[in-house]
Amino acid sequence: MKEILPVWTDGQSSSGPMIIAGPCSAETEEQVMATARELATNGIRIFRAGIWKPRTKPGGFEGVGAAGLEWLKKVKAETGMLTATEVATRQHVEDAIGAGVDILWIGARTSANPFAMQEIADAIQASGADVPVLVKNPVNPDLELWIGAMERLYNAGVRRIGAIHRGFSAYGKHLYRNLPQWHIPIELRRRLPQLPIICDPSHIGGKRELVAPLSQQALDMGFDGLIIESHCDPDCAWSDKAQQITPDVLNFILNALVLRDSTSTTESLTMLRQQIDQIDNELIELLNKRMRVSREIGQYKKEHRMPVLQMSRHDHIIRSRVAAAEEMGMAGEFMKTVLQAIHEESVRQQIEVLNNRI
Ligand code: PEP
Ligand code: MN
Repeated sequence: MKEILPVWTDGQSSSGPMIIAGPCSAETEEQVMATARELATNGIRIFRAGIWKPRTKPGGFEGVGAAGLEWLKKVKAETGMLTATEVATRQHVEDAIGAGVDILWIGARTSANPFAMQEIADAIQASGADVPVLVKNPVNPDLELWIGAMERLYNAGVRRIGAIHRGFSAYGKHLYRNLPQWHIPIELRRRLPQLPIICDPSHIGGKRELVAPLSQQALDMGFDGLIIESHCDPDCAWSDKAQQITPDVLNFILNALVLRDSTSTTESLTMLRQQIDQIDNELIELLNKRMRVSREIGQYKKEHRMPVLQMSRHDHIIRSRVAAAEEMGMAGEFMKTVLQAIHEESVRQQIEVLNNRI
């Protein structure tokens, strides 16, 4: 995918981040038009609205369907904004392109499915339309699958491709609705430097209060744009209400964002710091894994009435690890200090096991 063209369409400025805003779902003509009018007044030039909604469970609001395309036509005619919607099947592609939708996006559940991606790519090719397509990352943190989805479009002749980073699903409760795992879009940027990457802070955060900090973070990291869910009456939204903000709040957030000069060093510094954060998290997880094994050893020693401390093993560990670290160019003294601290904590945890406290 060497010659991917920018997503910016005619009349869109290519300077400054690309901003796409609009409701999670088109609900009624009144809601779509009210939201679109306010967004347009605030200077937004690309309007998003989901018409076909992939819902986790049946029974939820699954979108108004093709009827909503008429509302998007009206948005375009009345406000001049470009329109964008999600497509997941051949029929969606045909209907959306037929109705003059300007930008298509692929949802996270669809980009994870190569059959669906191929069907969409084929449908776009068959339509002959030169439509830009934004591809959300798959729900699972699989960079190859994400790139593969975009490759299918590229192979079908689509040249205006962009990626949307919307975070990755994780089991259990977290601060974020979808974990950002920033190292994945960073790696995507490294692999495909000319591919525009847009951040979706609404779906990453899942909460209104996280939209502003996530947007700033994305811009600091050199993302090319933002796609943000905005609704004229978020508390009454039929989907994703916790993360939608009014057009006025969006305006306030966008005005407060600090735009960095992409040639400045801040961007690379932020990316490097992200990598440090990621590595530190991995270190903590690794240490936790090590402590778990230590406790299992503690349990074994307890069952076999063995002493916790075995000095010969301890000396061997320190010596061999220090030598390995020195070989990699780190100071032996530093490695000794780190290992001794880890060892002390392991011993402490084993003693806790012996005393039945863990
Ligand atoms: C959406 O944009 O409303 C949506 C359904 O997003 P995702 O595919 O990222 O979950
Ligand atoms: Mn949504």
